[in-house]
Amino acid sequence: MNKYLKTVLNNIKLKNPHENEYIQAVEEVLTSIEPVINEHSEFEKLAILERMTEPERLIIFRVPYVNDCGQTIVHRGYRVQFSNLIGPYKGGLRFQPDVNQSIIKFLGFEQIFKNALTGLPIGGGKGGSDFNPKGKSDGEIMRFCQSFMTELYRHIGADVDVPAGDIGVGEREIGYLFGQYKKIKNAYEGGVITGKGLSYGGSLVRKEATGYGLIYFTEEMLNANGLSLEGKTVTISGSGNVAIYACEKAFQKGAKVVAMSDSNGCIYDAGGIDLNVIKQIKEKERGRIKDYLKHHPQAEYFEHTGEDSPIWEIKTDIALPCATQNELTLNSTKKLIANGLTAIVEGANMPCTKEAAEYFISNKKILYGPAKAANAGGVAVSAIEMSQNSMRYYFSFEEADKLLKDIMKNIFSSCQNACEKYNLEKNYTAGANIAAFTKLAKAMKAQGIV
Ligand code: NDP
Repeated sequence: MNKYLKTVLNNIKLKNPHENEYIQAVEEVLTSIEPVINEHSEFEKLAILERMTEPERLIIFRVPYVNDCGQTIVHRGYRVQFSNLIGPYKGGLRFQPDVNQSIIKFLGFEQIFKNALTGLPIGGGKGGSDFNPKGKSDGEIMRFCQSFMTELYRHIGADVDVPAGDIGVGEREIGYLFGQYKKIKNAYEGGVITGKGLSYGGSLVRKEATGYGLIYFTEEMLNANGLSLEGKTVTISGSGNVAIYACEKAFQKGAKVVAMSDSNGCIYDAGGIDLNVIKQIKEKERGRIKDYLKHHPQAEYFEHTGEDSPIWEIKTDIALPCATQNELTLNSTKKLIANGLTAIVEGANMPCTKEAAEYFISNKKILYGPAKAANAGGVAVSAIEMSQNSMRYYFSFEEADKLLKDIMKNIFSSCQNACEKYNLEKNYTAGANIAAFTKLAKAMKAQGIV
């Protein structure tokens, strides 16, 4: 790292001493963009990095609601409006007990780069709350979402900031959030939130987009390296939105998914996961992955007890971490590689710890698809949902899927081109960071010091 990059990173560490996830995300980007910084001495004078790493705005608010026992519970809500350089702030909402300022800022920072890679006009934002939707009744979820939107509505808008879902926020929550926004505004502004239900302005393929896009990216990366998905064994952590649709598309491409997980443990089904059962348990019953054994007693279940998830001990060609940040440790990385891993492609945001990511990157035999490129399909189809809302029109499933496929292809090409331009071999992490940063820095320079 050159002097300018080191100074920026040290200042970020000093200013945000307890924000480990945020520092981790910034450090990864700063570590890879040195070749571009060296070409542009004016970036230091213009404080491009200082501005890009400082959110334009961070909103923190109180979210009270009444639970089914009549008790008033208070949660904390967040929205980071990180950058609107190339479009309205755009990024999901996460409802999970461990949500804090560091996690929201890391997600918002990543989102700026991811959104730039899609080639669509969307800036970066993220939000959420330390509310746990697990085990709550529909009434409690509705009241919480209404309270959350009662504050959030004043900060968002189709041309200002457009939230969507993330962990703990699916179609049900988006429906309640949108309903409350509409009630307060007395206007039907469909483009204010994405991931809506199909009957009221949602887009076909949005539900599937992150998982499908992940597989389209994986396919591009494998093909570019003389490999294919056909016949490969795949393990996927998580069993939420991203994991389920990655699994569906992987099977469609001729791969065999043998393991999936949730925060309690993982299942291994050597003959291939029965995805209909997973959908039944997770999308309908909101149950635990262990319930899979009730339908398929031949499968095995491994409880998640220590720091390392048991899913990474299972032999696989392709690993798709699709659960949460820092879920894959250095220890697990070594096990995956010892078991003959070919590729790892990130569905979740920053699923590898810093040490794990560095280990994968240094191992030239492993293909590594970074999250901000590989999981950009979700936000890409969200932007397509915004376009449809503006046009008052709907694309067919095939049309939206074709757009998604082309976008994922272009994202991989951008990463690959940056790798070639800067002699980075197959370091697609650096390729993604450089491709996105170059675009954003140009926009920042053009728009003056604001
Ligand atoms: P969901 O809430 O639908 O599913 C999350 C899954 O991850 C669940 O199976 C959950 O298990 C599991 N999980 C959560 N925390 C942990 C943990 N600490 N250890 C192990 N497993 C855990 O979320 P999504 O599928 O939407 O999101 C998953 C990841 O993908 C996140 O990193 C998100 O930011 C990222 N992402 C999502 C996009 C989207 O369109 N949805 C777009 C781009 C990125 P359990 O039920 O036990 O909690």
